[in-house]
Amino acid sequence: MTPDPRSTQRIGGSTRMLGVIGWPVAHTRSPAMQSAAAAAAGVDAAYVPLPVHPDLVGDAVRGLRALGFAGVNVTIPHKPAVIPFLDELSDEARGIGAVNSIVVREDGRLCGHNTDAPAVYSILRRRFGFDPAGRTVLVLGAGGAARASAWKAAHLGAACVVIANRTLEKGETLAADIRRQFPATEVLALSPSSLAGHAPPPDAVLQMTSLGMKPDDPLPIAPALLPPGAIALDGVYAPVNTAFLGAARERGLQAADGLEMLVEQGALAFELWTGSPADRNAMRAALAMDP
Ligand code: NAP
Repeated sequence: MTPDPRSTQRIGGSTRMLGVIGWPVAHTRSPAMQSAAAAAAGVDAAYVPLPVHPDLVGDAVRGLRALGFAGVNVTIPHKPAVIPFLDELSDEARGIGAVNSIVVREDGRLCGHNTDAPAVYSILRRRFGFDPAGRTVLVLGAGGAARASAWKAAHLGAACVVIANRTLEKGETLAADIRRQFPATEVLALSPSSLAGHAPPPDAVLQMTSLGMKPDDPLPIAPALLPPGAIALDGVYAPVNTAFLGAARERGLQAADGLEMLVEQGALAFELWTGSPADRNAMRAALAMDP
């Protein structure tokens, strides 16, 4: 059995500091997988949860530079709130309006990235050879994960992005924002119950609502609307095997789970901070040992 990297780690003067800021962060699974990535890459780094009260976000972000941090992840509710305190934003972070990773460069500049968005499509490309260019992508939800997924689909040249959300107005607001940034992409906002007959059949279905986290949650979409031969990804990672994934596989879709997305967004962040390749298998194995 692989030893838990945190139990064997020695922290010293040259250890690179990494972490996650959020409120709360007690539930975070990132320390396990980031410690595994560092151990596998032979990088001397320590990754710690940093609970930051919403009133202190600016102090915390400025403090990263002062304390010599190499970078941090940013989680709920701070993903949009950190932006005013950063020196630079990646295209994704600016377009989506949310940062999930901050890199502190050697010159002290603070750069905001969003690795949730590329993580989704990196998994779909690696696992299923899927390229959204010219295709129809159905995104379920209109919260933070859905926004990242829908924005990146348009950024990668999707012909049509369909946003299906319980609260139609939130879906419409998101659709209008993406349409403004990507006029060549058709962007539709519908309620999940009015998808049939009003949207083209999707090539990819991205489940980015919170549905599936509780055992008695309903399915986020009627299985009949999942076209056999399409591909699916569920953002929910606890539990890993959701009812949505079960329904998608039963209908003949190829599907990837939320743990893959969790690992991939973390792996992309690790690579930004350290410049070293992240061992995704080691990261996933660490999550399995740290339920
Ligand atoms: P969020 O901003 O709070 O958005 C939640 C979304 O779920 C909204 O679209 C909301 O619809 C919908 N929703 C919630 N309860 C619902 C219900 N009972 N019926 C129908 N729709 C419902 O959350 P988020 O940050 O986007 O996260 C969404 C999910 O993605 C969570 O499960 C989260 O853990 C997961 N996630 C995973 C990763 C990963 O790396 N695997 C990364 C980010 C997020 P309304 O607008 O109508 O409220």
